Amino acid sequence: MKTINARHVLIAAALLAAAGCSGTPEEPALPPVAPATGVHWNQEPLAKNAFAPLPLGAVKPRGWLKRQLRIQADGLTGHLDEFWPDLGPDNGWLGGAGESWERGPYYLDGLVPLAYLLEDEALIAKAEKWVRWTLENQRESGAIGPDREKGSFAADWQKQDWWPNMIMLKVLMQYQEVTGDERVVPLIQRYLHYHLKHAEEAPLVAWAKMRWAEEILAIVWTYNRTGDEDLLDLARILHQQSYDWKHQFENFPEPYTRKHDKLTRELTKNWSHLATHVVNNAMALKTSAVWWQISKEQPDRDAIHTMLEVLDKHHGMANGLHSGDEHYAGRDPSQGAELCSVVEAMFSYEMLTAIGGEPEFGDRLERVTFNALPATFKPDMWAHQYDQQVNQVLCSIDENRNWTTNGPDSNIFGLEPNFGCCTANMHQGWPKYVTHMWMAAPDGGLAATAYGPSRVDARAGDGVLTAIVQETEYPFRDSIRMEVHPERAATFPLLLRIPAWAERAAVSVNGVDQAAVEAGGYFRIEREWRAGDVVDIRFPMALAAERDYRDSVVLRRGPMIYSLKVGEDWRKIAGEEPHADWEVHPATPWNYGLSLDPSRPEASVTVEERPVGAMPFSPGGAPVVLTAKGKRVPEWKLVNSSAGPLPPSPVRSAEPEEDLTLIPYGSTNLRVTAMPLVE
Ligand SMILES: [Zn+2]
Repeated sequence: MKTINARHVLIAAALLAAAGCSGTPEEPALPPVAPATGVHWNQEPLAKNAFAPLPLGAVKPRGWLKRQLRIQADGLTGHLDEFWPDLGPDNGWLGGAGESWERGPYYLDGLVPLAYLLEDEALIAKAEKWVRWTLENQRESGAIGPDREKGSFAADWQKQDWWPNMIMLKVLMQYQEVTGDERVVPLIQRYLHYHLKHAEEAPLVAWAKMRWAEEILAIVWTYNRTGDEDLLDLARILHQQSYDWKHQFENFPEPYTRKHDKLTRELTKNWSHLATHVVNNAMALKTSAVWWQISKEQPDRDAIHTMLEVLDKHHGMANGLHSGDEHYAGRDPSQGAELCSVVEAMFSYEMLTAIGGEPEFGDRLERVTFNALPATFKPDMWAHQYDQQVNQVLCSIDENRNWTTNGPDSNIFGLEPNFGCCTANMHQGWPKYVTHMWMAAPDGGLAATAYGPSRVDARAGDGVLTAIVQETEYPFRDSIRMEVHPERAATFPLLLRIPAWAERAAVSVNGVDQAAVEAGGYFRIEREWRAGDVVDIRFPMALAAERDYRDSVVLRRGPMIYSLKVGEDWRKIAGEEPHADWEVHPATPWNYGLSLDPSRPEASVTVEERPVGAMPFSPGGAPVVLTAKGKRVPEWKLVNSSAGPLPPSPVRSAEPEEDLTLIPYGSTNLRVTAMPLVE
């Protein structure tokens, strides 16, 4: 259970009085929260990180964000272990003879933070059962995890595989941060020594070789708490055994366009399969920066920028992802991106923010979080897709789909479409977003790295316990109000990420406008903060028409993109409700183009704000609705069950002009997002 000491309760009570108790019965203004452990900056000889992540539990969701986590807990995440055999009582990570590879740790990597962020006793009990098994079953040698002889593995090599343990280390780190459990750090340290001892005879293979940075995260975390330099030796050995992602992007084959399946298949064949794998690439976004903490080589620090430039150019999608279904799939909006790549890209941007601190990573994180993440779930989060499409006009089983390598059922909404990795791994998305919205900044500061309704409790300035309550309906609205409540007056810098799209952003402190707020940077306010100080932020969400694939247009407002709302006909095809499998067929036409002036979209598009209700990420609950002008494009038809080749813009259409309804991408299940321009 959570450690809450008496002093923190007293402070919470004092803060409650100071805050004027502005909460609703649903969410008390100041729940009794205090981080169980402190903040750990990188210690010498590691490179200095830009920000230090706060421990799990320091940032709590409020408002719509808390309701979204509740939807998740009431959906698959809170119940999966009750009926999905892979996570049942026979799982190897519970000492059983069942699935003994990655699925248990994957599930926990999201279940642990979700349970503690919601302070849900039943979910905490579920998560603790698994964590306790690992804590109580470390071998004399230092090894952790399922019994190799007893457990069930899809392949023999998985019996000696460092990969699933890497995920479990991330679980244990979060668990330690929120509970302060004193067994965790020594257990991880012993395990890393066990790996060091056997590293040469059992080198990284397969997934572990591509995903080695996950273990470096654990090494850095443990080094900062123990000063054990042997761990850095292990990091250097892992680096030698690992796949060189930096080299891949410095030497990316040109031209790399996905003209048709064959070319991608050819490249996939010529390269290692794992190097063009979409989840590996999403995880690899952080790899060079994670390694830079140890290497201190500037090219490692900067490698992410080359990687993003290459991936954006060849595989960039409007939803913030890089395509892959399940290998590199190019920029055609009918190609897919796997759910595992959504949550892994988010985690990569969170780690990149902490390590490098560029505000761009927060922009990218929000773009994925507010678009790609909610879109790929059924609104009640009882079903998910394996692959989502930017232009997604039919979710159905079809042998002839254009995926590079995925199966025919990859875009249906279900329990385990195509393959069960996402069913196990998808849970980390929302809770880790919450954890990483705030980070500790140098000079005793606090940094708002990503936005949403929340409350942070952390030490600032000279170690003064400080709560900051963020009241907002961002990203559905453009204003954010922060109430600052230090335990006593305290001087520290508050850093606010100003998104690159937020031209003319405005910040005021206690009603006084601040000068020189610039888009695409961190705005720093250093002053003596007193209880009740208010920071008001406005990020004007001007409507923008971004040019996309084949000169199509994507409408964007703030961090969210908008899609043509397509009528949905949900057809149950298998399984039992609530965790059934569904096809979704279009009930209204989808082949529309937009008539607008891309340099002035606001001239012909109206914006209507609706209440942010119980389920904002559903077609009926969309909190923002755009009305635009457009025409049908009759020659744009379904091909192999996807929207066929996008007609290059501008397209001539003799069809009558109509009013079109667009809603946030994340609120849709069927949609057209990259729309041709019609004249
Ligand atoms: Zn997956």
